[in-house]
Amino acid sequence: MSDSFQGPDTDNAAPRAIDPAELERAGVELLAWLGRYHQSVATRPVLSRARPGDVLNALPAQPPERGSEDWSAILSDLDHVVTPGLTHWQHPAFYGFFPANASTPGILGELASAGLGVQGMLWATSPACTELEMRMLDWMAGALALPDTLTFRSPSGGGVIQGTASEATLVALVAARRRTLARAGLLDAPRRDRPDLALYMSSQAHSSVMKAAMVAGLADGPDDLANVRPIPVDDSLALRPDALRRAIATDLASGHLPCFICATVGTTASLAFDPLDDIAQAAADAGFTGWLHADAAHAGVACICPEFRWMLRGIDRFDSLCLNPHKWLLTNFDCDLFYTSDRRALVDALSITPEYLRNAASESGAVVDYRDWQIPLGRRFRALKLWFVVRRFGLAGLRDHVRLGVRLAEWLESRIVADDRFELCAPRRLSLVCFRLRARAGESPAQTDARTRALMDRLNASGALYLTHAVLPHGDGARLVLRMAIGGSMTRQEHVERAWAAIGTETARE
Ligand code: PLP
Repeated sequence: MSDSFQGPDTDNAAPRAIDPAELERAGVELLAWLGRYHQSVATRPVLSRARPGDVLNALPAQPPERGSEDWSAILSDLDHVVTPGLTHWQHPAFYGFFPANASTPGILGELASAGLGVQGMLWATSPACTELEMRMLDWMAGALALPDTLTFRSPSGGGVIQGTASEATLVALVAARRRTLARAGLLDAPRRDRPDLALYMSSQAHSSVMKAAMVAGLADGPDDLANVRPIPVDDSLALRPDALRRAIATDLASGHLPCFICATVGTTASLAFDPLDDIAQAAADAGFTGWLHADAAHAGVACICPEFRWMLRGIDRFDSLCLNPHKWLLTNFDCDLFYTSDRRALVDALSITPEYLRNAASESGAVVDYRDWQIPLGRRFRALKLWFVVRRFGLAGLRDHVRLGVRLAEWLESRIVADDRFELCAPRRLSLVCFRLRARAGESPAQTDARTRALMDRLNASGALYLTHAVLPHGDGARLVLRMAIGGSMTRQEHVERAWAAIGTETARE
């Protein structure tokens, strides 16, 4: 590719930022490069072998003074500097954490969003950015069979795309804080006269809930439990409603103001499902008047398939829900769908209008200004990629993707159960399988943990696959388990079979 950068426009003494001809030429080259990357990704070691500082040292310490760099030099550095420092999340043998699905329409939707370069902070700053997003949220609510109360079909509900589930939980908590104080008639009370607010989640909840408490000022750090109540779980690792009811009652008796319950629909470690209906009932029985939020970051998108909708039973009693198409629904990061049945509470908590943001459309009350539904002011046109994804794959294609992940996990589960060197550590749920090496005669739990971890390290170092671990409660202790999270965009039966073969071979080397 030739160097097409023309240098500064001398009349205006600034570079020509967008050169349509260059955009087209260089864009074709970049997409071709990405096509080659994805064609070869399965041949690469999944986990990056870069050592600390390798990428840093391959980069010049100073930026170029003159913009003379040829596109071919930039693309060549993607090959030589960047890709060796990548862990390949789109590799079909990536089974760590949860997947971060990319797809052709997802990638092109991101490109379209960047290419249009609009800010959708107000309806007026790009009506299409807001209204396409509103339509996507309602499309997805229909596809997931969510209650109308969480959609724009209801006068008080609606949805928005947040960057991440962490942000969704934080905005839900901020709305909860204000609404709870308002309902208690304390919004205008001096801060020193207000009771401490209390937040509840299962002991298996994602760390983002604690982080939200820290950001919102309910906790000083991850170990500060003065206002945060991790609720014990049952044998299936789901939050115990009876324990929740008692915790709320204790707080009310001691003068705390219960404010926020975060239920997890698919915990990170083992995909345990907190029982939404029973949680809502326990909260009501205890006299809870705060906000119920459901974090379904990974698992929630599976509700696109009718057979998995049981997990959201009771969601009609919740104030908000979040789930991430950017994990398991073929939509490039970042795309978290956040729904609430009380959008007024959200806007009341997050709205602040300096003079320069005032405009006729907002004042008319006839439009949605998404800046009031999120933390930042500016916002990307993220709905485009979801629109592209749904239109290209259709709901049927998305269901096929989810069901394939579940089938592959069932296959793996059947192999683990049949092999007495391993044990399942939690029931397989959807496409997540948690397993570990079985204890040898006379071996302590710590020794089995160490062998299991060593097996994971050897597998990850081999480059053949990548998986990560978790620690799950077990009896009166805790056990290290390996998590194989299936559901990558490119993962098929042959990849899972190869992964299982690699696990067997590595285990035999012990
Ligand atoms: N909640 C749950 C249950 C998760 O599993 C995760 C991540 O895996 C998160 C929240 C955080 O997701 P995000 O990266 O979108 O903030």
